[in-house]
Amino acid sequence: MHPLYQGAHFLTAAARVEQAPLDAGREVAFVGRSNAGKSSAINALCHQKGLARTSKTPGRTQQLVFFELDAERRLVDLPGYGYAKVSVAVKLQWQAQLARYLELRASLAGLVIVMDIRRPLAEFDRQMLSWGLRRGLPILALLTKADKLKRGAVAATLAQIRREAGVIGGEIHCEPFSALDRTGIEPVQARLDLWLEVG
Ligand code: GDP
Repeated sequence: MHPLYQGAHFLTAAARVEQAPLDAGREVAFVGRSNAGKSSAINALCHQKGLARTSKTPGRTQQLVFFELDAERRLVDLPGYGYAKVSVAVKLQWQAQLARYLELRASLAGLVIVMDIRRPLAEFDRQMLSWGLRRGLPILALLTKADKLKRGAVAATLAQIRREAGVIGGEIHCEPFSALDRTGIEPVQARLDLWLEVG
């Protein structure tokens, strides 16, 4: 158990970047298409069951959700818009909020892109990757639902993404993860510790 993440609690939700908490200290943001497994990953990393909502509450899905770790550190759950059943206009608006957050948020220290290991680097993921890298952020490709693949297939997917990351350039880390069998929790927490300057 990691006490910092175990102590994570809901701080506030913001529909617009301007409504976000004071832009001080350090925070790490999680993005992912709907159903990628982002809520489950945040809950597993924080050793909690109901922190990030795994059920899709309409309305909540379009807000930036801030979790406080301590006075100087936060995790942020960013809405994805992958499969969500909303109009194109709403998606574009939402996309603009994400872009603004990624561009403007000074305390943002790293970006975790949560992807289903069976369907990595979809268009949405590539968009987030490119926005994150443009900001000069370090990226963690969190490849979740690794329990769904055999070990060899996990290794092959990792190798493929690392190859692509090498071509793209920038700081891109990859970790296989499973909220179900708890694979990857410690290495991901260790990466967040570095970004959040823990210890
Ligand atoms: P979100 O929309 O990205 O927040 O995704 P959720 O965390 O709500 O997960 C979407 C679905 O994937 C749910 O049915 C979860 O039970 C399932 N899921 C999430 N993580 C894992 C995992 O590590 N392994 C498996 N097998 N299923 C998972």
